[in-house]
Amino acid sequence: GAQQFYRDTWAEINLDNIYYNVESLKKILPEKVVLFAVVKANAYGHGDIQAARTAISAGASYAAVALLDEAIALRKKGFTEPVLVLGTSRPENAALAAEYDITLTVFQKEWIDKAKECLKESKPVKLHMKVDSGMGRIGVKTKEELKDVESAIRENSCFYLEGVFTHFATADESDKTYFNQQLASFNELLESFEQRPELVHASNSAASFRYPESYFNGVRLGISMYGLSPSREIETELPYPLKEAFSLRTRLVHVKEIKSGEKVGYGATYEAKAPEWIGTLPIGYADGWIRKLRGKEVLVDGKRVQIAGRICMDQTMIKLPNHLPLGTEVTLIGRQGNEFISVNEIADELETINYEITCMMSNRIPRVYI
Ligand code: PLP
Repeated sequence: GAQQFYRDTWAEINLDNIYYNVESLKKILPEKVVLFAVVKANAYGHGDIQAARTAISAGASYAAVALLDEAIALRKKGFTEPVLVLGTSRPENAALAAEYDITLTVFQKEWIDKAKECLKESKPVKLHMKVDSGMGRIGVKTKEELKDVESAIRENSCFYLEGVFTHFATADESDKTYFNQQLASFNELLESFEQRPELVHASNSAASFRYPESYFNGVRLGISMYGLSPSREIETELPYPLKEAFSLRTRLVHVKEIKSGEKVGYGATYEAKAPEWIGTLPIGYADGWIRKLRGKEVLVDGKRVQIAGRICMDQTMIKLPNHLPLGTEVTLIGRQGNEFISVNEIADELETINYEITCMMSNRIPRVYI
């Protein structure tokens, strides 16, 4: 059943929009291309199981997470489709992954040697080999490393090498030079397999939209599954209009008129220049509504109004245009009437990327699904 909560702040997650974003990509992919729904970090803050299930119903066939913990959490919530852990896992936990039928990422011979000890009594574990084609993060970089890891895997029946993949560092940039270098080096490394694994995947959202030559037979859709562009510079190259799935809403829990000269908040930094209506919102930096958002705008009564004074841990004050009743809905991210505060607007204000905004909304904010 729906999670019970008592606070007047919530993130509204539009699953129809997630469905639409996934289905729209699926429609333009060749049929043989497997769609991985990237639901790491609680589906970029949207809710792991809800996002994963929606993506599967829209045509995805694999979920991808960063951590074994996240994969197990999905299993415990009843997710039965394939799950790939994109990041590193401990070799000691290979048997646990096998038990939960979770696919792990590997790229070190040392890992294989340790894992085979722990897999002696267990069922085989599915593996994808990671290639570092230029991201400089994890993965095999040379043909020799690839061959060593491949033969170590194939020597032992407790492993099943199902896939191989890489990750692009600049797929969301207009300049295609580095992307092309990475693609070429991935293609070259693929030639070194004794037996190429059945699933080959490389594309993130940006590459899925811009580079059909990097489809292979799988793509990993992350940010754009949630309706957000991988970067501002490729917004004009999107093959379909994305629909944002994340809104952040709260309600006025206190409304008062203050006199000219009266102050608001820690440090008493905000001073009314004339009589003013001030509203209090039950959201603060412990929710991810960070102090740097001071002075920014929120939507109330279909209009933009300003945050007054410093954001507190659990509360934020705003300047109201006039008296408004307790319980009036306030939108911090999303649409209200004709006004819209996009995730990108908040990202720009904080000089960061949209990815970070939805991820930083803490678990203290209940997610409500519409
Ligand atoms: N694949 C890997 C290995 C990733 O780390 C990520 C996310 O950073 C993705 C795919 C999804 O990328 P995006 O969210 O840009 O679609």
